[in-house]
Amino acid sequence: MIKKINRGYSLIIVFSAVLIISLYYLDKYINDKLESQLITSLNDVSNQNIKLIQNEIENKLSILSSLANDFKGYTEEELKNSVERLNSINESFNFRELSIALPNGIAYINTGKIFDVSKRDYFQESINGNRYVSDRIIDQEDKSDVNVYSVPIFNDDSSEVIGILFASYDTEYFIKLLQVSSFEGNGYSYIINSKGDIITDSNKSGKIYQENLFDLLANSSETSEDKRLNYDAVAAVKKGINNNDNKIYVEYKYNEYKKAIFEFLDVNDWWLVTVVPNEIISNRIYPIINSVHIITIFVTFSAFAAIIYIINRDKKAKENLTKVAYIDSFTGLYNKNYLKEKLNYRYLKRKDLKSALVVLNVRNFKLINELYGLETGDSLIKKIALLLKEDKKEKEIVAHNNADEFVALYFYKSKEELEKRLKNISDKIKNITYNENKMFLEVYIGICEVIDFKNGFEKLYNYASIAKNTSKRNRDNSFTYYNKQLAKNELSEKKLENEIKEGILNKEFKAWFQPKYDCNTKEIVGCEALARWYKKDGKVYFPNEFIEISESRGFIKEIDKLLFEDVCMNIKEWKRRGIKVVPVSINVSRAYLNNTEIVYDLREILNKYSISPEYIQIEITESSLVKNEEMLNKIINEMHRCGFQVSLDDFGVGYSSLNSISKLKFDTLKIDKSFVDAIGTISGNYILKYSIELGKNLGMEVLVEGVENEEQYQFLKKNNCNTIQGYYFSKPLDKNSFEKLLET
Ligand code: C2E
Ligand code: MG
Ligand code: MG
Repeated sequence: MIKKINRGYSLIIVFSAVLIISLYYLDKYINDKLESQLITSLNDVSNQNIKLIQNEIENKLSILSSLANDFKGYTEEELKNSVERLNSINESFNFRELSIALPNGIAYINTGKIFDVSKRDYFQESINGNRYVSDRIIDQEDKSDVNVYSVPIFNDDSSEVIGILFASYDTEYFIKLLQVSSFEGNGYSYIINSKGDIITDSNKSGKIYQENLFDLLANSSETSEDKRLNYDAVAAVKKGINNNDNKIYVEYKYNEYKKAIFEFLDVNDWWLVTVVPNEIISNRIYPIINSVHIITIFVTFSAFAAIIYIINRDKKAKENLTKVAYIDSFTGLYNKNYLKEKLNYRYLKRKDLKSALVVLNVRNFKLINELYGLETGDSLIKKIALLLKEDKKEKEIVAHNNADEFVALYFYKSKEELEKRLKNISDKIKNITYNENKMFLEVYIGICEVIDFKNGFEKLYNYASIAKNTSKRNRDNSFTYYNKQLAKNELSEKKLENEIKEGILNKEFKAWFQPKYDCNTKEIVGCEALARWYKKDGKVYFPNEFIEISESRGFIKEIDKLLFEDVCMNIKEWKRRGIKVVPVSINVSRAYLNNTEIVYDLREILNKYSISPEYIQIEITESSLVKNEEMLNKIINEMHRCGFQVSLDDFGVGYSSLNSISKLKFDTLKIDKSFVDAIGTISGNYILKYSIELGKNLGMEVLVEGVENEEQYQFLKKNNCNTIQGYYFSKPLDKNSFEKLLET
């Protein structure tokens, strides 16, 4: 799916890139095309103007030549006296002035004036037989600009020049010629000579300036870039003129950017300059370019919109994937995998903030499920999830791992701050209600502060779990920080676990016996078998060192069986030796009470040693009840069927309700030591008294364990307790000591 999306991206990106590049080139192509078109038309305009000017000049010179023909073969005298005639010709041709000059340079003008033109270029050209047009000359009379056209007058056989005929025209006349509108009136022309002096300028109707185009260009620009442009243009023109080129094309800036063609006029050293401003291209191109730009913008926007759409779709797809892979559908929180995936050095590194991985479990959650049902349990977990989520700060992550376990990443400034938050959350959890009943849920927490992330998430999680296990054992502390010592303990637990397993194989677990006494007669009426571990190291270990771990690791069954076998073996031996045998009670763990298998195991061992079941009592602790009342009922019935007696051990410390106790058919109620310890206080006395009565009322024999002194004994005796077990009478004894006690 992601691959597909990426391909979609690339396609759109490539497509829009190609489109944008094409549009850019189209833009450029249109520009170039129009520019070359403009240059072509500039060229055409220049050509036309040249022809126009050349034709006009030719026309004028032809007229003059044909007039000169009329004076062909005249004597000097005749020429001198032609003023009258000149005057009448001029009337029909409308020259400014029409004159004849003799070879000595003296000119006779139609107006009657005479003056010397021997130094004038037109005189020198035409006296040598050439037709000629002069540069701009200032008329001495009225100071206006004129051009003089001159032709030679020949003798009869045209072998000799006998004078020249010349006429002057207003230079303005050229201007009129050049004012042919080109480029919708935006173009214009100059005539300059090879030095750049402006002879006419079509822009300056009638007004002639004494200006030089080259100087104008050199001094007009402002920026250095434009200066360079104009400098290059002037240089190119000068170079072309020197090389006798016919046509020079340049660009320059004079007020605005312009294109110009300098074309040789073939009249004197005159050049026609045809100019058009660049703007004309822009004006023509504008509508086209505009639409191209609009298309470009549209396409770019569409491409962006498409990309944004795809990114969003991509993001959503990723989110969905994340949801499936990383969200716990039950609580709506993330799962542990998400944390594992998300946590890395960069994520944890936050300015001024420390981080910790916190594992949080609900105490006795299994029990809650059993007591209140799965539905309630589920709803409570959801409520806890919600509380944790509400407390979560930016970038923190709360995950639901399984059952009653939550794993969370916290950021904090100080340990106090973290502890305060955890305490607060624990309190809130404690106050959770179900059907308006406060549930008093207790949580135990393990914290692993992130010092470095070298060992990865799993290590952090393991460490936090080790700390959590410590909190679980230590009821006073609701949270524990991980430290190396904890890890060591965990390690030594592992070692212990292995040693117990080995101890089971080697049958290192043996029974000690604590006698039970009749409250009235003080006679031994039974005993309780208590497990002791005769470890390889030669020491004897007590249940507090191995029972809990064996229960949690699932091999307590084996120890129970070993004990039972040891008890049976002893009974058999005592019988053989003729020692008076009293009933022996054995403890069975709740872990052994999941099914009726235990009854058959016991039966089998009993048969193996040919022992009558009347010697055996089974002790079931009160905490086993909560787990499986129904199954226990079955088991107890089976045990009774086999002939065993059954006691309810540790009454008073468990969670069982009196209701459930009354339903199960225990033979003996063993009241816990904690009740005995409370003797002497008003409530203690009352509770114990009441419990003894209750047991009796339910048809049970009542045994009180943990009796340590005379006062307690007297109280129990007074309150009709049946049997007593406690250090006051005897501590648990090893086999030999107990045998001796039985023998006396
Ligand atoms: P329990 O079944 O309630 O056994 C009574 C415990 O109280 C024994 O501790 C006993 O030594 C102790 N005790 C008896 N009288 C007094 C007294 O006057 N003062 C004091 N301070 N303590 C007294 P022990 O032998 O350490 O056993 C502890 C627990 O271990 C037992 O409690 C029982 O729950 C469990 N246990 C012992 N043996 C086995 C076994 O073979 N299988 C199973 N599943 N659990 C066993
Ligand atoms: Mg017991
Ligand atoms: Mg007990």
